Amino acid sequence: MNKENGRNKGSKLLAPPDGAHSVLLHSCCAPCSGGIMEELLEAGLQVTLFFYNPNIHPRSEYLLRKEENKLFAEKLGIPFVDGDYLPERWLLDVKGLELEPERGRRCTACFTLRLEATARYADENGIPLIATTLGISRWKDLSQVNSCGLQAAAKYPGVGYWDCNWRKGGGSQRMIEISRREGFYHQEYCGCRYSLQETNRWRQERGRPLVERELGE
Ligand code: SF4
Repeated sequence: MNKENGRNKGSKLLAPPDGAHSVLLHSCCAPCSGGIMEELLEAGLQVTLFFYNPNIHPRSEYLLRKEENKLFAEKLGIPFVDGDYLPERWLLDVKGLELEPERGRRCTACFTLRLEATARYADENGIPLIATTLGISRWKDLSQVNSCGLQAAAKYPGVGYWDCNWRKGGGSQRMIEISRREGFYHQEYCGCRYSLQETNRWRQERGRPLVERELGE
């Protein structure tokens, strides 16, 4: 069988590692998780969504992304786990990395914090497999995301990390189609205050309107 990271090449069938039947899917937002959730359900897997994203700034943006994701999970009948919003914890982990570019060391720390929390929750709740939506965006470094996921899961012997390439097999296109179909909110920056600043710097240089969000602590 021609397989690539658990997905049968050119088909919609998913083959989770070790024949797992249930998966804890870490989700960053509805647009990134929508297609993956539908695909996992179609493959007959038991899915739980884990929303843990203390990186998102400001709180109003966090609540917007969370509520949209929760509503869509409910629509699909997928249990939604609401992780804590503790931005102070995230700020501690990225201290000294504020000026790193996207895909740099700040993002490694950010992925690690979120995926370690995912692996811990899976371990505490007897879920054998974790996966994340973080790598579906073409703006992300998939190998960086997967490396953080593998290291997070390695801390818990009963938990594996599924390094599926969700972009393949039409995944990227499906993400766009579902976002349009559901009318999901269009995000203008990755999520943290530093990505917001970077986006606005880029916009300013090109004379484009800025993304208006509070930058305060
Ligand atoms: S740019 Fe995105 S992935 Fe990187 S630290 Fe900020 S929120 Fe996290």
